[in-house]
Amino acid sequence: MRLVFLGAPGVGKGTQAEKVVSHYHIAKISTGDLLRAAVRNQTPLGLEAKSYMDQGRLVPDSVVIGLVREKLAELSKSNGFILDGFPRTVPQAEALANVLETQRIQLDRVINFRVSREEIIKRLSGRRSCPKCQATYHVDFAPSKSGTACDRCGEQLVQRSDDQREAVDMRLRVYEDQTAPLISFYEQRQLLSHLNGAEPVEVVYQELVRTLSAYQTA
Ligand code: AMP
Repeated sequence: MRLVFLGAPGVGKGTQAEKVVSHYHIAKISTGDLLRAAVRNQTPLGLEAKSYMDQGRLVPDSVVIGLVREKLAELSKSNGFILDGFPRTVPQAEALANVLETQRIQLDRVINFRVSREEIIKRLSGRRSCPKCQATYHVDFAPSKSGTACDRCGEQLVQRSDDQREAVDMRLRVYEDQTAPLISFYEQRQLLSHLNGAEPVEVVYQELVRTLSAYQTA
């Protein structure tokens, strides 16, 4: 199964991707996770990416495409994959199409998760993350046991700088301007399925599994 998960920040793409990956044993590439790891490790690429990420802007296409190219080159060997948060611009989608064509593989489906703007703002502004093991929580919907420390490793939870209100507004603007055009890009290629991401996690997951089973390649 070769999938792209599309949608604004906070629609639950990452959560659903985790569930699909553990159920179907396929690979996941999240450019957000790759970039955050580069920032943590203070690589030259991470240092370049950090200021864009903190402001909620997109990291330039050349940087992101360079970062995922190597991973993408290995995709044909995998059992299947989910791309979470990539592509996010039309040039990224074109770069992806070229890489897949070179490897003679095709996407099975692009899933577009839809959630209202109000709900997204509620989800992102309440999100807390563990800086050590990357577990995520929500102050109202999924708090950690103590409210401030990670259940898994005990580290103090933090708010991602790009989950702060100004950065969230910027990320939503950037999504509308640069990522939303991918909806028609993939619609034209007859690859797109829409999913209501506003339902509880398990309900969205059941709907996702139903959608995927209709498009699974033998
Ligand atoms: P995410 O965790 O997917 O919301 O990504 C966090 C941040 O990483 C985004 O706000 C961007 O600054 C950057 N980022 C992640 N994926 C991409 C991408 N495909 N293109 C450009 N920037 C990205």
